Amino acid sequence: MISGKTKVYGIFGHPVEHTFSPGMHNAAFSKLALDACYVPFPVHPDRLSEAVKAVVPLGLCGLNITVPHKERIIPYLDHLTEEAGFIGAVNTVEVENGELIGHNTDGRGFLRSLKEEANFAPRRKKILIFGAGGAARAVGFSLARAGVSSIVFLNRNPEKAAGLSRDIRAKTGCESRSVSFSDVAHAAAEADCLINATPLGLKKKDLLPVPEQVISSRHLVCDLVYNPLLTPLLKAARKRKAAILPGLGMLLFQGVIAFEIWTGKKAPVTVMKAALFRQIPRV
Ligand code: NAP
Repeated sequence: MISGKTKVYGIFGHPVEHTFSPGMHNAAFSKLALDACYVPFPVHPDRLSEAVKAVVPLGLCGLNITVPHKERIIPYLDHLTEEAGFIGAVNTVEVENGELIGHNTDGRGFLRSLKEEANFAPRRKKILIFGAGGAARAVGFSLARAGVSSIVFLNRNPEKAAGLSRDIRAKTGCESRSVSFSDVAHAAAEADCLINATPLGLKKKDLLPVPEQVISSRHLVCDLVYNPLLTPLLKAARKRKAAILPGLGMLLFQGVIAFEIWTGKKAPVTVMKAALFRQIPRV
């Protein structure tokens, strides 16, 4: 029941019709019997500043931010966490005493998924990441802070990979470098964990981010793409007897962390996971 006391949370995006977040957060509010609801807001890019200015006057209690607003929202916020500042993108807004605080929970979401769903302890491990965009930045920063031994980035645009590895080294002190496609077999042979942080796998005809032969049974292979649940990379990894981690876990835990930031309560992870799974088409 919506009443005059119901707390309203939501997501700003454009388009926002396909978001899985309302299902996940409303299931959590219901499980904890919180008088709260979560709604999608289709905010046109030209009207983002107006929409953000309305958050406090309308009494909204917290927001997720998705494409295409994650970077563009930053100038309109009052504060940014160190993580969101490094990543240069915000996916969660906390409303605190009339001020808006921008967080990015993607990297921490990935870390929790690694620990809780793959039982993988990142400390002293060697990581190879494909991609150098926002998701690679978030995951790379969190892994560096979690004490991995090294991170290697491989990207279509090599300058972006070089820039990201420089930023990670400077910010965290973690050993980080970029490699070219001709070095992929060597980099993969040294790595414990391979992570796809490109959109390759979203479309049926996409190529794998790396040749299948470089994957072996010593790897944990993670795909940040979560729809389809089992991407071509994860299917190839299974064939090569590697352990796998689908991207749905990162999506789940970035939401779990947002929920905990907003409510100060421990999120009902099992209920949120079931709500997410119900919405993902099976392949
Ligand atoms: P982004 O900032 O646009 O970066 C995309 C990266 O992928 C860039 O490094 C880009 O390389 C590379 N790339 C794009 N198309 C490519 C292609 N056809 N071949 C090779 N490389 C390609 O996007 P993002 O925010 O990092 O997101 C990347 C993917 O991660 C998304 O598609 C999404 O599926 C996934 N993701 C998942 C979660 C989750 O919760 N599971 C969260 C965030 C993102 P260039 O630099 O050369 O353009």
